[in-house]
Amino acid sequence: MVTNVAVLGATGSIGTSTLDVIARHPERFRASVLVAHRSVEALVALCQRFRPDLAVIADPAMEGELVRRLKAADVRCDVGAGPDAVVAAASGSLCDTVVAAIVGAAGLESTLAAARAGKRLLLANKESIVMGGALLLDALREGGGDLIPVDSEHNAIFQCLPGGRPDLRASGVRRLILTASGGPFRGRTRADLGSITPDQACAHPNWSMGRKISVDSATLMNKGLEVIEAHYLFGAPADAIDVVVHPQSLVHSMVEYQDGSVLAQLGNPDMRTAIAHALAWPERIEAGVAPLDLTRTPSLAFEPADTDTFRCLALAFQALRAGGDATAILNAANEVAVDAFLAGALPFLAIAEVVEHVLTELPPEAVVDVRTLVARDEAARQAARKVLARACC
Ligand code: NAD
Ligand code: MG
Repeated sequence: MVTNVAVLGATGSIGTSTLDVIARHPERFRASVLVAHRSVEALVALCQRFRPDLAVIADPAMEGELVRRLKAADVRCDVGAGPDAVVAAASGSLCDTVVAAIVGAAGLESTLAAARAGKRLLLANKESIVMGGALLLDALREGGGDLIPVDSEHNAIFQCLPGGRPDLRASGVRRLILTASGGPFRGRTRADLGSITPDQACAHPNWSMGRKISVDSATLMNKGLEVIEAHYLFGAPADAIDVVVHPQSLVHSMVEYQDGSVLAQLGNPDMRTAIAHALAWPERIEAGVAPLDLTRTPSLAFEPADTDTFRCLALAFQALRAGGDATAILNAANEVAVDAFLAGALPFLAIAEVVEHVLTELPPEAVVDVRTLVARDEAARQAARKVLARACC
């Protein structure tokens, strides 16, 4: 039977890789729902190629153009527009599997809706679990579907655990070890990083990704978000999650057991491996990824992370330990700061300062429901914008 897949964030980096894997297996998968933010042209091109049942544009102002262009391209499918249409697409009857690959907190409600509806949830949108981890776990219990992580580190850990996401203590797990490439500025000091430009920050040495996650990789906030993601996905306390810098990005993460065994998952740095694994799990399928030839790879190196230079990683651990909605506050402040950096309005090193300031200003509160969480997200964004306004004057 063919699995109908909704690709949320179809025009992005993960969306493109997902559609590449789907196209390799037409007998197994069909892209039945495609969702994008504002890039109508790219969405229409995907609709011409994949012929979905439904195309959704999240910005309602683009609906007319989408309808016009689909007609001109002779593509017949249903059309939706606006954030509510994205949520409806993620939970509706046109898909069995949802690939959550929207960037940022904007992906929260569709991720929760897919979980609540019992879809197989392939989670790339780490910001949604960092923001509403407890709510997402509740939604998964309610829906009864599987969550398979797509983030390469969590997908690696998932592969190294017995049976996916088991009780860690009962499984004899001592630690989860997340690998980090170290980003484009590994080995640099704070003095070197004063005048970094957005293009320099987005030039990742090993992975090709969207601009927001590329900046997060350069500040190590990406690893911080992943520590929080690992906490929620695998039920690991902060003290049982370690980060180790591994510049070759061939070991995607590891699990250490009480008997001293360390299991690792290796592969070339290509997100199609994790995506294909998550799509087909528990089976294995061709992903289009070049085999890893260990005789030709550089030797594997591991070193500790420099949290004095890359303070965002320490701030993420701090937010995780603070509990409540501190990780949502961290995420919102970071999104505002990264946007400002990408717009040329904030220096690279000030991203951590904005996040730290907002975390101090808004002490954690208990996570109650989505409505209050979204309100807290907005409060953190406003606080971050105030810090930015002060920094710029
Ligand atoms: P990207 O910027 O390349 O793509 C983002 C996609 O989200 C686009 O299709 C865009 O149209 C869509 N989008 C943006 N805002 C939206 C909104 N408000 N409503 C609906 N759609 C919206 O980003 P990416 O690199 O593909 O990353 C996507 C997510 O996956 C992020 O959360 C990122 O952290 C995570 N992730 C990415 C990678 C990677 O290799 N790119 C690896 C691991 C995890
Ligand atoms: Mg990752």
